[in-house]
Amino acid sequence: MILIDGKKTADEIKKEIAAEVKLIISSGKRAPHLAAVLVGHDGGSETYVAFKIKDCEEVGFRSTLVRFENDVTEAELLAKVEELNNDKDLDGFIVQLPLPKHISEQKIIEAIDARKDVDGFHPENVGRLVLGMPAFLSATPFGIVELLKRYKIPTSGKNCVIVGRSNIVGRPLSILMSQKSVNATVTVAHSQTKNLDKVCAEADILIAALGSPEFIKANMVKEGAVVIDVGTTRVNAPETKSGFRLKGDVKFDEVAPKCSYITPVPGGVGPMTRVSLLLNTLKAAKKNS
Ligand code: NAP
Repeated sequence: MILIDGKKTADEIKKEIAAEVKLIISSGKRAPHLAAVLVGHDGGSETYVAFKIKDCEEVGFRSTLVRFENDVTEAELLAKVEELNNDKDLDGFIVQLPLPKHISEQKIIEAIDARKDVDGFHPENVGRLVLGMPAFLSATPFGIVELLKRYKIPTSGKNCVIVGRSNIVGRPLSILMSQKSVNATVTVAHSQTKNLDKVCAEADILIAALGSPEFIKANMVKEGAVVIDVGTTRVNAPETKSGFRLKGDVKFDEVAPKCSYITPVPGGVGPMTRVSLLLNTLKAAKKNS
């Protein structure tokens, strides 16, 4: 069994990005610039945005954090999105989800200029992905495919089962995995799938993205399968400094011995998601220069 080290791979990619940034700056252009819009004070969102800002610093990007209180109106947020769309010094931006209930996430996503949509959530980017056209790819699916490539894991003709069909993970990932560059035969499973154990046990590549801690057990995994664990659920852990621990969707201890490759949680898909946002921002910056 080979443990896929997402942290190490992401660090390597960060070094590659930092080298590109140096070249960009030495050619007289400005550094790539990412902005993050954060509404409210949700612990998870605060952490994710702080990581994104830190990642930018590490590779030499400029970053801007735009904060709003929970009571910001949809109109105010839309006005900010419009301002960021028109900011010529900004290559890309993200609006951290979830947003408060009184704001339509879909409306905000659709208001973002698709050329600055480095999260890859805008319908134009999703449509381009489906058509196999150049697009900003949603960070988690992008990171997973990059991880498979960098570990030289064969995907062509393999049975890939993805558990979960969300707009940010399962569904875009299913499209990427079936593209000609990857060539997997993809099954998308969800909460209404019958005989899920059996469906999963057919997978050469099993990707768990359902958000249910330790849901995937050894009996659901074929001997020699590649298992990618996307799940990150915060579970209480009073003994830790933060008071919580991240749990994946895979019961790691019993599944790992059956796998040819497996990602850990943390340290697997998470760091690759983060670095994919940097790759998208670099791509946006190159288009703008
Ligand atoms: P989501 O929007 O809640 O979607 C969950 C999907 O899983 C849905 O399609 C749901 O089916 C399916 N599902 C739920 N329970 C199921 C069950 N018992 N059997 C089969 N399918 C089931 O979640 P998400 O945003 O995609 O996130 C999934 C997990 O990945 C979460 O733990 C999240 O924190 C994590 N995540 C991690 C990263 C990272 O960078 N590591 C990034 C994004 C998300 P239905 O459609 O039928 O409801």
